[in-house]
Amino acid sequence: MQSQHHQDSEKSPRTAVKRRPYGWLALLRQRCPRCRLGPIFRGLFDMHQHCPLCELSFQRDAGYFLGAMYVSYPISAVLLTGGYFLGRELLPSWDPSLVFLLIVLPCYLPLVPLVYRYARVLWIYFDRWNEPGETSSSVGWEQWREQHPERFRAE
Ligand SMILES: [Zn+2]
Repeated sequence: MQSQHHQDSEKSPRTAVKRRPYGWLALLRQRCPRCRLGPIFRGLFDMHQHCPLCELSFQRDAGYFLGAMYVSYPISAVLLTGGYFLGRELLPSWDPSLVFLLIVLPCYLPLVPLVYRYARVLWIYFDRWNEPGETSSSVGWEQWREQHPERFRAE
């Protein structure tokens, strides 16, 4: 961890190479945790196997994304219970089961793709942060970038 911080804070003299965006911005934009530029998804629910830019494998093992359930479950629970109590507050005369249907069908269902995508993105980021491995650590990223300079030219 110590050496990573040193790597990140060092100012690189090479200005021709595109700078890596901030991690939180890349997470919000659902980009690769290593280069922070390549998109993780290619469709609404369809993921790239590897980062289209730096070739980092997103699915490290078989069944890797079972871990994303630990992320999506609390997000969904908070959205549904929070929405339910808000609905009960705003529509006190409504039947509770009707309020629940209103929260699930028109309010929660459209958010499912968003929850699904962010659950996976957060899981990938957590896993890569928790266990960077040789290639996805800051040092690994610097080495990879040295070997593939053509991919990261500034515009
Ligand atoms: Zn990448």
